[in-house]
Amino acid sequence: MWEFLRNPLPGLGPEALLLLGLGPVFLAFIAWEAWRTRGKGLYSVGDTANNAFLALSHQTVDALAWSALIGVYFWVHQYRAWDVPLTAASGLLLFLGQDFLYYWFHRASHRVRWLWAAHVVHHSSERLNFSTAFRQSLMYPVAGMWVFWLPLALVGFDPHHILLIVSANLAYQFFVHTQAVGRLGPLEWVFNTPSHHRAHHARNPRYIDRNYGGVLIVWDRLFGTFSPEVDAEPPDYGIRRQIHTDNPLRTIFHEWTAMLRDVMRPGSLRMRLAHLWRPPEWQRPEP
Ligand SMILES: [Zn+2]
Ligand SMILES: [Zn+2]
Repeated sequence: MWEFLRNPLPGLGPEALLLLGLGPVFLAFIAWEAWRTRGKGLYSVGDTANNAFLALSHQTVDALAWSALIGVYFWVHQYRAWDVPLTAASGLLLFLGQDFLYYWFHRASHRVRWLWAAHVVHHSSERLNFSTAFRQSLMYPVAGMWVFWLPLALVGFDPHHILLIVSANLAYQFFVHTQAVGRLGPLEWVFNTPSHHRAHHARNPRYIDRNYGGVLIVWDRLFGTFSPEVDAEPPDYGIRRQIHTDNPLRTIFHEWTAMLRDVMRPGSLRMRLAHLWRPPEWQRPEP
């Protein structure tokens, strides 16, 4: 915990510099895509403004949350199995370990309603473009996304390196949110690509709960959750029950309130609480 006191704003460490440095690149890609696809309805003012609000609110809350959570990471790091120095090999291991954990975080985010309540924000747009990458919920620190990287601190990776690799993974994923790039040949075998991620954002039955990978798609191929984008079935973007809104507050909180409404309905406590960890579409059997 002392590290937190010595360094109270680690949100401004290398991971924040990475995202700040890439900020102009992200904006340039959004401007390029919006110009290139003008007249095709890929962007709308309301949707893009909503994404911008969600991006800023998420980044602000995330930076504040990490300034406290890094203390938790250093506390856990005391009990590490090894001291891992930063080398090319350990950096590669950290990348693979974090991307593997990202797969399970993302899979859980679709199959556990408590986590879906935060993640649904990213999926609730009926459009897909580079700006969708920033459509994120400020509720992630409450949902507990940060818990998923704790095993890396127990192994012995430096918490600041963990935070850096988490940011780098998310920065990579910006580039897969586009309809302007087709398929990328052999890269499609190993990496999460725009094509794979378009399928992930689609609500067609064949694409639901597929392609959870962050940087690598090999985890989906290994664990049976991969689906290619099929030309005969273009992605229909959004969620099962579309919310049709550009209101950021409704976008952020609609699933939390729906979940709480379900929990409050009469029934045994065990069945009511099951709404928190069961899949989002689960319905309680009527008594
Ligand atoms: Zn997702
Ligand atoms: Zn996405």
